[in-house]
Amino acid sequence: MRWCYDPRIAKKSLESFRIAVRQYELAFPGCISFVELGQRNGNCVGYPEVSSFYVKSSSGGCFVNGLLGEWPKVARNRWGRHALNLAPGGCDTVGVAIHELGHVLGMGHEQKRRDRDNSVRMNWSNIRESWKSQFTVADGYTSGRYDYDSIMHYPMYSGQVGLDRS
Ligand SMILES: [Zn+2]
Repeated sequence: MRWCYDPRIAKKSLESFRIAVRQYELAFPGCISFVELGQRNGNCVGYPEVSSFYVKSSSGGCFVNGLLGEWPKVARNRWGRHALNLAPGGCDTVGVAIHELGHVLGMGHEQKRRDRDNSVRMNWSNIRESWKSQFTVADGYTSGRYDYDSIMHYPMYSGQVGLDRS
């Protein structure tokens, strides 16, 4: 996996990202390797001919946009530039960096598994409208038992409407 970073990235965001990279390398020795590239004009060197992702902290929130892989150029460019954003003040932790890197590697959210209703109860009336799509089921990796502790699982009360924790 090739990556580079925004020269204006917050120090903690970059540090957390580097630790997350190391965690994947330790967890999957020899399977995943990360190669750091330089950047030029807001893209990794070689973009778009060379697939890569751009790590930054300049937008709000924690997210990955774009999908990665050694895909045909037309598919790679469908989303524009591939970016992984770790905003300061909540998205710059090692846990969030590991979660977002999971998306880069193709992982979806655990709570969106098709078999999730066997394991969790959804209180739809307590979920903010803007968050509901985060809880609709979607195809993805579902082998193995439901993992409440997955790094790809949202916290129990995420997206809640009020303070009533139900
Ligand atoms: Zn996520």
